[in-house]
Amino acid sequence: MNELCMCETTTVYRLEADYEASPIWCADCSCNIEIEAILMDKQLKQLLTEWASEYGEWFDWVNDQLKAGAAEREAAHNKQGEQLLKQLQETHPMFQTATFSPATLTKVYI
Ligand SMILES: [Zn+2]
Repeated sequence: MNELCMCETTTVYRLEADYEASPIWCADCSCNIEIEAILMDKQLKQLLTEWASEYGEWFDWVNDQLKAGAAEREAAHNKQGEQLLKQLQETHPMFQTATFSPATLTKVYI
């Protein structure tokens, strides 16, 4: 076990925004990895944190329903996530094999 997740060593990362979670996950054991524990470009870390905090802004958590324009907003959020992953892959070797898991709130709540 290492300090980031349940695996012997963390080899594959997944980028996924979720409600009040870090956007970085271990793709093998699905542990949510504290972004502060990862050696990463400060600016990129900031962008990722902001991006993750915007997850679900197209969803009304109180009334359990989608907000107006939810599909477009979710698509834009996913597109931004893909771009951030690309930046990560290009600048951080350990993220070269990382995958992206898009938000699917609008698919669950139709
Ligand atoms: Zn793991």
